[in-house]
Amino acid sequence: MQKHSEIVILGSGLIGLSTALLLERYGLESIIIDKSPINLLESNKDRRTTAISQGSARIYEKIGVWKDLVKYSQPIYKIKVTEGIEADGLTFNYGMTEEGVMGYIVENKFIKKFLLKKVLKSSLIKLYSGTLVKGLKNLKNNTLQLKTENGTTTCNLLIGADGRKSNTREIGLFKYLYKNYNQNAYVFNILHKKPHKGMALERFFSTGPLAILPMKTSKGNQSSVVFTVDADKTFKNRSSFVKFFKAKYKDFFGEVLKFSKVSIFPLDVYSCLRYYKNNIVLVGDACQALHPIAGQGFNLGLRDCLSLSESLKKAKNLGQKVNSNLVLKEYSRTRFYDKSLLVGSTHNLNKLFSLKGKIISKVRSVGLKLFNRSDFLKKKSMLFAMGITDL
Ligand SMILES: Cc1cc2nc3c(=O)[nH]c(=O)nc-3n(C[C@H](O)[C@H](O)[C@H](O)COP(=O)(O)OP(=O)(O)OC[C@H]3O[C@@H](n4cnc5c(N)ncnc54)[C@H](O)[C@@H]3O)c2cc1C
Repeated sequence: MQKHSEIVILGSGLIGLSTALLLERYGLESIIIDKSPINLLESNKDRRTTAISQGSARIYEKIGVWKDLVKYSQPIYKIKVTEGIEADGLTFNYGMTEEGVMGYIVENKFIKKFLLKKVLKSSLIKLYSGTLVKGLKNLKNNTLQLKTENGTTTCNLLIGADGRKSNTREIGLFKYLYKNYNQNAYVFNILHKKPHKGMALERFFSTGPLAILPMKTSKGNQSSVVFTVDADKTFKNRSSFVKFFKAKYKDFFGEVLKFSKVSIFPLDVYSCLRYYKNNIVLVGDACQALHPIAGQGFNLGLRDCLSLSESLKKAKNLGQKVNSNLVLKEYSRTRFYDKSLLVGSTHNLNKLFSLKGKIISKVRSVGLKLFNRSDFLKKKSMLFAMGITDL
């Protein structure tokens, strides 16, 4: 293990890898440490897909991964949002803005693969996989010591990108807001009879939202499903789960021909009140982990990485240290509005659509239809969700 690096990134998830590549773009060296061994990082068992916004695709263009990734990305041409199985609701269409398609659905395994490939080729980034960080200690010379299973290393700035259950956040004693949603996201893929034509469907039920997201694949008409269900609802076996799903899916893209394995993610929200402290700065899920209802957690985290890399580049140009309070304060100030808005809005969206009862269901249904009539509101919210402008 290298004895010292000015910048250490903890975690080689999508956010940690992206941070290192954005720093590399400005000639900044870093080391990444991850507890998973390299064969596990490369095999990438994550079966999820991510809705990558236009804004995120443009960030990936900057670091040269989009040209590979775009081949595995399904453009989103239409999004339909409804209350339950109602036919009408809110529709967003390609062409309502001048910014291209609304986003892309990409399998996480491909995002990871191309990021990792670039990281392993870089002369400015070193990856220490299979290395669990067990403790952090601030030393007198304004450096931080990391104790790992494979020895110790020091750094001036530790970027905590170790995800939703971040140890960095806990050891660093960062204060945060937390709520357990008492919901699980069931994630799986379906092969269906009719083509999806790049359409994403989101149906809101009082038991939780059902999102069906179009995938690019040579295997036929395939979509990825993120089905949120109250944790109190349990299933005796796979067929009772399939039956429950089918009653909500109602063959929207035709009969389901094949189901993949199901992965289950318990849902909660973390939101740090401060983003840096004592030579540590947090990015991505380590700093704020959202409900997947709007498919924005990764996109928000990627904007953290971009903003931090720009602040650190500025620090270098001005001859300041990467852990200077001035620099990290600027990063926090730049990110505050975007983070607070998305944490708040996804939380409230989930709360609104979880309310049970016939009257509230009717109110939601009318609300969606009214929203649908305003091209101005639709365009504004689309540009925000696409990561192009703020609200
Ligand atoms: C069901 C679901 C669907 C989603 N869909 C979308 C979507 O469509 N669009 C979107 O924008 N977002 C989506 N998200 C959110 C998105 O998946 C996350 O925001 C993103 O993956 C977070 O990446 P990360 O790198 O911050 O964390 P992680 O992916 O959790 O990576 C953390 C890394 O840190 C390492 N690590 C942890 N602790 C240590 C330690 N002590 N020592 C060393 N290494 C350590 C881990 O091994 C891991 O590699 C979804 C989330 C869920 C749950």
